[in-house]
Amino acid sequence: MTNLAQTELEKLFELARQAAQHSYSPYSGFRVGAALQLTSGEIVTGTNVENVSFGLTICAERAALVRAVSQFGPEIRISGVAIANRNGLASPPCGACRQVLAEFILPDAPIFFPAADGVRTMTFSDLLPLGSEMKLK
Ligand SMILES: [Zn+2]
Repeated sequence: MTNLAQTELEKLFELARQAAQHSYSPYSGFRVGAALQLTSGEIVTGTNVENVSFGLTICAERAALVRAVSQFGPEIRISGVAIANRNGLASPPCGACRQVLAEFILPDAPIFFPAADGVRTMTFSDLLPLGSEMKLK
C-alpha cells in the first residue's frame, strides 16, 4: 500500500463524510461522499448526483475524479481514496467507478470504505485485479 498513515486515511474518510452532506439523492436517499488523495498533496471530494433516468446518475467517486482532472489536469495520480455514506450501509466502489479510477490511481493505493463488517481498507489492485493492464497502446 502507498504510504498513507492511518490518521491521513481517517482525515480522508471525514472529508468524504462531509462531502456526502451535499449529495443529490432524492430517489434513493443514499448519500455518498468520496475523497481522493492526490500524489501532489491535494485532496478532492465529490458526492453522488442522481438523475430521474437513474442511468445518468453519477457516483461520488467518479464525481470527485472528474472534479480532480478538471481542476488539476490529466496528469493527476491518486494515492488514496475514502468513501463514506450517511446511511450506515456498506458502500465499496461500484464496478464502473473501479474501472474509471484505474486510469489515474496507483495500484497499491489504499481504498477506505464502509463494508458489511465495518470500515475496511483494501488496495486498489485487490479491488480491481489486472485493472492497470488494460491498455490501448
Ligand atoms: Zn460507482
